[in-house]
Amino acid sequence: MNTDTANQHANADDELLGRYVRKILAAPVYDQAICTPLQPAPALSAVLGNRVLLKREDLQPTFSFKIRGAYNKLVQLSQAQRSCGVVTASAGNHAQGVALAARTLGIKATIVMPTTTPELKVQGVRSREATAVLHGESFPFALAHALALAQEKGYTFVSPFDDPEVIAGQGTVAMELLNQHQGVIDAIFVPVGGGGLIAGIAAYVKYLRPQVRIIGVESEHSNCLQMALKAGERVVLPEVGTFADGVAVAQIGAYGFEICRRHVDEVITVSNDELCSAIRDIYDDTRSITEPSGALAVAGIRKYVAREQVERQTLVAINSGANINFDSLRHVVERAALVRPQAVPA
Ligand SMILES: *Cc1c(COP(=O)(O)O)cnc(C)c1O
Repeated sequence: MNTDTANQHANADDELLGRYVRKILAAPVYDQAICTPLQPAPALSAVLGNRVLLKREDLQPTFSFKIRGAYNKLVQLSQAQRSCGVVTASAGNHAQGVALAARTLGIKATIVMPTTTPELKVQGVRSREATAVLHGESFPFALAHALALAQEKGYTFVSPFDDPEVIAGQGTVAMELLNQHQGVIDAIFVPVGGGGLIAGIAAYVKYLRPQVRIIGVESEHSNCLQMALKAGERVVLPEVGTFADGVAVAQIGAYGFEICRRHVDEVITVSNDELCSAIRDIYDDTRSITEPSGALAVAGIRKYVAREQVERQTLVAINSGANINFDSLRHVVERAALVRPQAVPA
């Protein structure tokens, strides 16, 4: 690439980030979402020798950040689109976000979820007066069905991640975070499913504070961003594990990938057992339970610190959600014990 084309690329890229930053600043998410605390994790910080801060998106009204993107998308639909209704496919948390936003705005919502969706997330949709349709064993099947319904009934399809308004809504997490911590941040660890959250965060942070590292954390059973970055294009994973059901996505979104390919510094993958252990780390510091996807970022921080041997850095984890069936906790506790046996009192 000669210097002129390289400069053109850089300018086009700045322009892209600038467009997202403007959308993020204008997103009216606080009609529905809250500004969540950025909270120190003293025990984990002491163990790791670094300052760990948790962005508590598990405290949102639907117990995940998804309400931000869903509301920002729905509030911007035309009157005609609103009266026809919306449809979406979701592994569960976006479903609850859309259901709540739609009820607030008086829009009819139909939500297709995989048959493997935890009952608690299905209830979260039904209790908010949306129509829940269970279809297909994983997200891609639910997605195909939702797109067919959109065609057939004239509903507007609301993607859980592959939409600029959804990405901008999720990006408000970064806007809060940079306001809440104006000192040095070395890295922000972001869980990745379809890439909407990390794209919104990366766009905002890299525009304003490019020296902050943006590190994606994926389940090793659904590492669609890592594979896409390696291949240089959006690959489709042949198989997706659903323990971390909030991120069980086979292909990174197109809009998100456009941002991630240039602005995500690296992607770390973690095992299910490491997620269980991270749920315990979070519990120890907050007395709150996160769902497996919600603990990805903390699991990523543990791995990063062990590998890089960094000390006294400020590392932020996005605690993205808390929608886990109570009955699943038994399994989480058992697996966590395998990773780090509980200390035996002397
Ligand atoms: C949706 C979700 C993610 C991933 O967000 P994407 O925008 O799909 O990458 C992470 N954690 C939880 C709890 C989620 O619900």
